Amino acid sequence: VTQSRADEGSDLRQAIQQLVVANRILAHEGVLDVFGHVSMRHPERNDRYLLACSRSPELVTADDILEFDLESNALDDRGLTLYSERPIHGCIYQARADVKAVCHNHAHSLLPFGITGVPLKPVFHVAAAIGYEVPTWEIRDEFGDATTLLVTDNDRGHSLAKALGLGTTCLMRGHGSVAAAGDLRRVVYIAITLMQNAAILSESLRMGAVNYLSPGEVEQLRQRVLAPRSLDRAWDYWCERAGFPTRPAVENQRS
Ligand code: MN
Repeated sequence: VTQSRADEGSDLRQAIQQLVVANRILAHEGVLDVFGHVSMRHPERNDRYLLACSRSPELVTADDILEFDLESNALDDRGLTLYSERPIHGCIYQARADVKAVCHNHAHSLLPFGITGVPLKPVFHVAAAIGYEVPTWEIRDEFGDATTLLVTDNDRGHSLAKALGLGTTCLMRGHGSVAAAGDLRRVVYIAITLMQNAAILSESLRMGAVNYLSPGEVEQLRQRVLAPRSLDRAWDYWCERAGFPTRPAVENQRS
C-alpha cells in the first residue's frame, strides 16, 4: 500500500524532514556527491531505519525517504530503486544500540588515508569529535580480492560494523568512510569535520612534522564540540547554506 509522507505521524514527519535537510547539507558541503547516503534510526521503532531511495543526496525529498528493517529490507519500496550499499546502515544499527544516525560517503580528502595506511587522527580542535584515530576496514581481509569493494550484503556490513567497533568513524580502503553517532545532527557534524580534518592533515603532512591533538585535548574537546551551543550554531549555519533559512536567534532560545 502506498502511503503519502503527508499522512505520517508528526514525530516521523519531522524526522523525515530533518533527514532531507541532512541530505542537502552533506551534499552542499561536499561530503556526499553523486553517491553516498545518510540514514537515521526510526524515531518510534528501534528495529527500523529511514533512508532515501537510490537518488543523489542533493535531490532527495521527503517522498524519497523509505523505511527499512535492520536486515535492510524495505517495508514498502513503492517500486523505487534502492541503494545497493544499504547494509552498511542496517548492520551498524544492529551492532550499536547507541547509534541513531549513519553516513556513508566517498569524500575525496579521506581516501588517501585508507589507501596508504597513514593514520588519520584529529589535528584541529573542532575535529576532535572524530575520535582519537580512525580505523580502516580492509574488505580483502575477509572477502579476498574478488569483490567490488562495495558493501552489498549483510556479511560485508557486519564485517564493516566490526571494524567501526565502538567508535564513531571508520575508513573503507579504496572506497570511502562511515560515520555513526547518537543523533542525526551529530553525524552530520562528524562527517563534515572528518572530511575537513583529512584535508588539513594532508596539507600538514606535506609541510613537515605533524603535531596531532593529544589524547587529553581530544577528551576535553569531544564533549564540547558536540554540545548544543556548538551543534546548534553549526546546524543553523549549514541549514542556511543548503537553502533552508533559519529563524532569528531570539526565536531559537530554549525555554
Ligand atoms: Mn560506497
